[in-house]
Amino acid sequence: MIPMVDLKTQYESLKEDIDASVLDVLANTQFILGPNVQALEAEVAAYLGAPHAVTCASGTDALHLALRAAGIGPGDEVITSAFTFIATAEAIAYVGATPVFVDIDPRSFNLDPDLTEAAITPKTRAIMPVHLFGQPADMPRFSAMCQAHDLLLIEDCAQSFGARIGEQQTGSIGDMGCFSFFPSKNLGCYGDGGLVTARDEAQAALLKNLRNHGSDVRYHHDRIGYNSRLDEMQAAILRVKLRHIDAFNAGRRRAAGDYRQALKDVPDLHIPHEDGIGEHVYHQYTLLSPRRDDIMKALQAAQIACAIYYPIPLHQQKAFTDWAEPVTLPHTEAVAAQCLSLPMYPELPEEAIAQIADVIRTSLR
Ligand SMILES: *Cc1c(COP(=O)(O)O)cnc(C)c1O
Repeated sequence: MIPMVDLKTQYESLKEDIDASVLDVLANTQFILGPNVQALEAEVAAYLGAPHAVTCASGTDALHLALRAAGIGPGDEVITSAFTFIATAEAIAYVGATPVFVDIDPRSFNLDPDLTEAAITPKTRAIMPVHLFGQPADMPRFSAMCQAHDLLLIEDCAQSFGARIGEQQTGSIGDMGCFSFFPSKNLGCYGDGGLVTARDEAQAALLKNLRNHGSDVRYHHDRIGYNSRLDEMQAAILRVKLRHIDAFNAGRRRAAGDYRQALKDVPDLHIPHEDGIGEHVYHQYTLLSPRRDDIMKALQAAQIACAIYYPIPLHQQKAFTDWAEPVTLPHTEAVAAQCLSLPMYPELPEEAIAQIADVIRTSLR
């Protein structure tokens, strides 16, 4: 059996440090907003080159808190992709704003900048690109667009921790960057967790206030906020793993290189396209094929995991029928009908990749 992700191998390699950190928290008994959260926020801000970093309870909350802190609400439009996890657009709906779904570039799977610019209206307040599957979106274009139209730029970095565009890290380029520490993400904890980066101090202070019931001073509440804090155990685990994130991402890029070598000549198959805007960190390794179902059947028969991310784009989800205008997104729909993600994790062995490639090659013969 080859799984989609293997969290055990990574834990075994870091067990001593992680176990010690968790035991420290248990001995300390300061479980909420303690020293590990504070240290992690400083360490992540330094790693990303972001002025401020504020942790919270999940990636979904990171997006929600960012939109709340930006003052986005009813009557506002936020442009984003429909080819992403639902949380990206759920957060827009949480604050009462309208998600405006724009089509993707069918090669990178990321939001198309030209179509995005064409979708800007007087109601548009923000653009929210997703660095999908770990490939940076076209931030130079989106930054220029947001400057020209006076819009906020909020990055969904849930799949792109450690991905760079030149010297800049995703999450440090827009006004805010939203990260998820869900266990299977490139930097994952052992539960739920998230983080928002912010450019200015006032915005960071507002995020900290919002995540803690609208409160800076205990039992003094400035606004209606949330209970959305990262706990100390998760923060302690993440501090250990953060020291290895570049090695983890290098492992993913190595695996992607092995896949590329093994699959590049297979007919009826598109392997992931690196568009060169930034460095792809391969949260997922996602193929396109008109014969996806044949490939899936063969992989399943060979005990190799695979998954469709994402089978139903957000503009076609029942949940959004009342929230967004009906649209047709040809590239998004075509990609959703043909995409297939293969096992991907830093420690994925080269022999496993060779075996996966053999099964795919044979299935398409
Ligand atoms: C995982 C993910 C989220 C949500 O993160 P959670 O921590 O699961 O709440 C948001 N956007 C994208 C693109 C994701 O992949």
